[in-house]
Amino acid sequence: MLPIAIGTAIVLAFVVTQLVRLQGAIPAALRYALKHKELFLVYQPVVDLRSGTWVGVEALLRWQKSSGEFVSPDIFIPVAERYHLIEQVTEQVIALVEADAAELLRAYPDFHVALNLSAQDFCNPAISERLRAAAAKMRVHPRCLHVEATERVFLHAEQTRKAVETLRMQGHSVSIDDFGTGYSSLSYLTELELDCLKIDKCFVGTIGQQAVTSHVIAHIIEMAKSLGLQMIAEGIETQEQADYLRAHGVQFGQGWLYAKPMGMAQLAQELARQRQP
Ligand code: C2E
Ligand code: CA
Ligand code: CA
Ligand code: CA
Repeated sequence: MLPIAIGTAIVLAFVVTQLVRLQGAIPAALRYALKHKELFLVYQPVVDLRSGTWVGVEALLRWQKSSGEFVSPDIFIPVAERYHLIEQVTEQVIALVEADAAELLRAYPDFHVALNLSAQDFCNPAISERLRAAAAKMRVHPRCLHVEATERVFLHAEQTRKAVETLRMQGHSVSIDDFGTGYSSLSYLTELELDCLKIDKCFVGTIGQQAVTSHVIAHIIEMAKSLGLQMIAEGIETQEQADYLRAHGVQFGQGWLYAKPMGMAQLAQELARQRQP
């Protein structure tokens, strides 16, 4: 009995130290990545569900290590948030957008680039000024730069409200991202003035399924309408999903059915083709 218990304890101790080591390795590697420019952006089109035209893109961060290995933002963004690296990550995202997208946005002033901000970014009193400066440097109207914030942002209601207000006053559009997946509270939706609600792909995925939760999306759509919010549905993969969303009055969508995230060069090419007179 005793040897088995000791064996189990040794295995457990090994697993725990490995986990701690791995967790500890990411912040160090991320600091290296920030310094050595291993982060870059890809852009996923936002489509007008009626006309099929591309109205803008969402900037999505990618990390490719020098070994060639990719690390998903679903892994490294939470680590960046926990280790106080998110401010530097967001600064790099903004700088990358400035470098990548200025020319495109000047050519198509009705187009937009949406940036993902973390909860901590909204507690940074300099964030709205940073985005104003970005638009100025790119010589584009601030309305060309959209901001996406997850529901977690709205837990810090007081600090956040000021940032959201300032961003909107400057002309940026502010969306609530991953709606319905986190700390949903109807009160912030009615208290905060927002522009757009992004319907999470987990709800889009229930369209046409027999899932018990498949009616939830209809309620989300009704609620967004009653609050006067625009909607972008995420993760559209099938024509059936697109048809349902369009029929229910959702204006915009993103997903593999239309386009996967792509580099700026490819985006500029595709857009030039679409906009050809
Ligand atoms: P998100 O903001 O909800 O982004 C949508 C995710 O869905 C992206 O994953 C996108 O590639 C993926 N996606 C798009 N269309 C489809 C589809 O049709 N089917 C499926 N299954 N997936 C689709 P990605 O790029 O891996 O990003 C994951 C998350 O990482 C993002 O979720 C966002 O929360 C975070 N993230 C990404 N870039 C940034 C960034 O620059 N800053 C911050 N703070 N967070 C970021
Ligand atoms: Ca997003
Ligand atoms: Ca989302
Ligand atoms: Ca997400």
